[in-house]
Amino acid sequence: MGEGQSILIAGGGLGGLTTALALARRGIPSRVLEGAPNFGAIGYGIQFGPNVFHAFDRLGLSQAVMAMADSPTAVCMHDALSGEELARIPTGRSFLQRFKHPYIIIHRVDLHNILLDAARAAREIELVPDAMVMDFEDRGEWVTVRTADGRQFEGPALIGADGLRSHIRAQILDDGEPNPIGYVAHRTIVPMAELTAHVPRDRVVLWGGPGFHIVHYPLRHGTLFNIVAVFRTSTHGEKGDVELYRAELHDTYREAHPSMRALIAIMDLQRRWQVGDRDPVRHWHKGHVLLIGDAAHPPLQSFAQGACMAIEDGLCLGELIHAEGRDYQTAFRRFEAARLLRTARLQLESRALWPFYHAEGLARDVRNATVLAECDEAHMFDCVAWLYDGFPLPTERNDLDAPRNLASIERRANQRSG
Ligand SMILES: Cc1cc2nc3c(=O)[nH]c(=O)nc-3n(C[C@H](O)[C@H](O)[C@H](O)COP(=O)(O)OP(=O)(O)OC[C@H]3O[C@@H](n4cnc5c(N)ncnc54)[C@H](O)[C@@H]3O)c2cc1C
Repeated sequence: MGEGQSILIAGGGLGGLTTALALARRGIPSRVLEGAPNFGAIGYGIQFGPNVFHAFDRLGLSQAVMAMADSPTAVCMHDALSGEELARIPTGRSFLQRFKHPYIIIHRVDLHNILLDAARAAREIELVPDAMVMDFEDRGEWVTVRTADGRQFEGPALIGADGLRSHIRAQILDDGEPNPIGYVAHRTIVPMAELTAHVPRDRVVLWGGPGFHIVHYPLRHGTLFNIVAVFRTSTHGEKGDVELYRAELHDTYREAHPSMRALIAIMDLQRRWQVGDRDPVRHWHKGHVLLIGDAAHPPLQSFAQGACMAIEDGLCLGELIHAEGRDYQTAFRRFEAARLLRTARLQLESRALWPFYHAEGLARDVRNATVLAECDEAHMFDCVAWLYDGFPLPTERNDLDAPRNLASIERRANQRSG
């Protein structure tokens, strides 16, 4: 196989690696250019809805993933001031019956290593670390990229899987930086044995408060505990030090439930992430260059689905490039058609959900009363079905459609008989 035949993929995150694996499954070579000195992941937890298994199953990764992942007993929302549980999505047997696959929590490093091991075992994939792509030139038949250290790579197409601050996007769309929404995130993992806070340890919990929230869940079969603290601050665009961050957290969470304050006290504050997203756009490709994952459609974390979308993208793209016999422009147009509404809906609904998590005053009272009165299991399942049922892979129309159609037929039949 000629070197220049390899599709170039900028970014070896979850989206870039999935794309390479999906292409390799169809015998199509790719070269993954990762900007960091080594392929790896930021070492925190990540949640996945059951829809991710539509991709993992096809890539033959589900067993390896399940060996490293855990299934929480439920995904719950609590009020951050009173501590009251407001809503619960049970993720046990009824969830499995409804969505056919589990909800999982996994250490991002473990998932990344599973994808990397599979990529290293595939002769079609070349992994190139320390290759920060700065820009590209699309000359019709060939795309050439230039890296920060002056190297050039050439391929028949370029996939921009380079995340929220994508260089490839800057060149295709030139639409500036992501929208900062005034919030920041801190992430921490502690050994479960050292966790003293009185919080549930077998499930995913989101505590929603006025201008702040915390998400936590266990990792690595209950040996670790992952905490994410997110809050609004006027310093969201600035870099501070640990002391400043600690003072801000102390002030922000001062009225939070004691369990939350106990979690805040053990947060590692070395690193802070500015929370942001982008407006949905209709087109992610130009010529032989295409964006996927966060480079194309980054959402807020409200549904914990950004990485799921990047993985779904990777599978869908690999299948379409194969189905179109490497006619890239057609494959990229079909990719946009297949992925646009689902990812745009996620971006928009994630924004809509954000104030719900962070409601204050009367809005909080209304939220709590409404959720407690209306959100039973059936309602919660229906709310997330558009995400968790997956999407119809355009090359296998009858396949992924089936569970959703079956479920909606069953639902309609139940409604009629009820
Ligand atoms: C606090 C937080 C919690 C989250 N929790 C969840 C969750 O529970 N579930 C979920 O599904 N999603 C979650 N997300 C979203 C998820 O992290 C992203 O949507 C996902 O990582 C996007 O994957 P990606 O491959 O598109 O981009 P990235 O993961 O950002 O990967 C991009 C890769 O490209 C590399 N790169 C960057 N620039 C270049 C360049 N110019 N050249 C070469 N390489 C480059 C980077 O080093 C990186 O390896 C969360 C996000 C945040 C901030």
